[in-house]
Amino acid sequence: MSISEWRKKLVLGEVSSLELVEEYLLRIKSVDQKLNSFLFVNEEKAKARAKQIDEERSAGKSLPPLAGIPIAIKDNLCTKGIKTTCSSNMLSNFVSPYESTVTQRLWDAGALLVGKTNLDEFAMGSSTETSAFGTTLNPWDIERVPGGSSGGSAAAVAAGLCVASLGSDTGGSIRQPASFCGVVGLKPTYGRVSRWGLVAFASSLDQVGPFARSVADAADVLQVIAGNDTKDSTCLDLPVPNFAGSFEKPIRGLKVGLIKECFDQEGLDQEVKKSVLRAAHQLEELGVELIEVSCPRFNDGIATYYVIAPSEASANLARYDGVKYGSRSEEEDNLVAMTSSTRAMSFGQEVQRRILIGTYALSAGYFDAYYKKAQQVRTLICRDFENAFKKVDVLLTPTSPTTAFKAGAHENNPLSMYLSDLLTIPANLAGLPAISLPCGFDHSELPIGLQLIGNVLEEERLLQVAHQYEQISNVMKNRPKGDFIPG
Ligand code: GLN
Repeated sequence: MSISEWRKKLVLGEVSSLELVEEYLLRIKSVDQKLNSFLFVNEEKAKARAKQIDEERSAGKSLPPLAGIPIAIKDNLCTKGIKTTCSSNMLSNFVSPYESTVTQRLWDAGALLVGKTNLDEFAMGSSTETSAFGTTLNPWDIERVPGGSSGGSAAAVAAGLCVASLGSDTGGSIRQPASFCGVVGLKPTYGRVSRWGLVAFASSLDQVGPFARSVADAADVLQVIAGNDTKDSTCLDLPVPNFAGSFEKPIRGLKVGLIKECFDQEGLDQEVKKSVLRAAHQLEELGVELIEVSCPRFNDGIATYYVIAPSEASANLARYDGVKYGSRSEEEDNLVAMTSSTRAMSFGQEVQRRILIGTYALSAGYFDAYYKKAQQVRTLICRDFENAFKKVDVLLTPTSPTTAFKAGAHENNPLSMYLSDLLTIPANLAGLPAISLPCGFDHSELPIGLQLIGNVLEEERLLQVAHQYEQISNVMKNRPKGDFIPG
């Protein structure tokens, strides 16, 4: 059921918030041992809030927009009094003294935060396999990964363990797992949503966004978390539109651009390509005009990202020094040795690799050759998008070159793992809003994701096109039955 359907039942008193959350908690208990999508289940607080909401309803108070809706939170968002681990041994016992802006807004809107979900360590990865607390499995096929880094949040929604969830997207970490798990995932415009309380990975790229089972649900969650926040100076001080405001307006006459470079990819699975092109033609039936556009620098996104993101990460992760936060090595007796021993002991391999690459790229002798060059290419990628949006309203690509891969498929080959984000990274580099939604299934009955990219701050139009596609395509109504996919 969708958020609005649950809301109707809750308002009419056909179901209570407590009953609803208990049902979800029960399902988490019975199913999640197998999937490992939750690191922590917030049973007590969620139930206490549910009771409060039920009392308010009985007292005749009007219910806030997400009243009673069970929502899961990626464990790189700070939650007061509850552990925030980033799936890292470095923060395995870290309890944040404050609440992130987005989770505070969800609580205030009546949502029930049912737990914290698994991720790649510090959100670095594309499969959830770099988590220090075990991999999350894909509910469609438990031999496969759910994608990453927000794999726990995506799997939890797909398996019906919560109505919606939050993830973060630095290079594709909401959209790629959404695609692998057959759910909707939205990365807003950079600055649309506050990053305060999101543990920083690459600050010029990170953005929080929702996972949901429909575009409308994703819009409902975005509506609550979006908007200016004086605690985050990169958060935009602009009015928040009604994101679902254009759902019913016809899209006839809109121009949808197919990025040529995406469809020419060598590694693009032919079934994925076919399914995404079929989706484009379904949009054509609604009266949109399909136009091929070229973004010549699109394929330089990966190389650019893997200089910029590790550079920012190496600076952001410098704070984990054994003094200020989390773990500390007890073996050494001087500061430098203690710091390096703590970091070697508590960071996983992928995180260490990123710190090394970033430190190298930022060092005096290499700064111009790597970091500065990457920033220049980033500007060219932004210009490609600017030019494309002179001709079209929305861009369309596959979300990921493949469907969910098997666990271990990219073991010992970080480069092949990085290629998984080839199609999602450019939107982060340019700060654009982008959404992934299911558009079909491959021969193994694994979901395929369609990506739509909008111009800066044009979430409303992006969601309009996505919603209308979802309505005519009906992809999920006739879904195959995965291992843990509710019927
Ligand atoms: N997979 C990409 C990376 O490893 C993106 C991660 C993300 O968006 N957080 O960096």
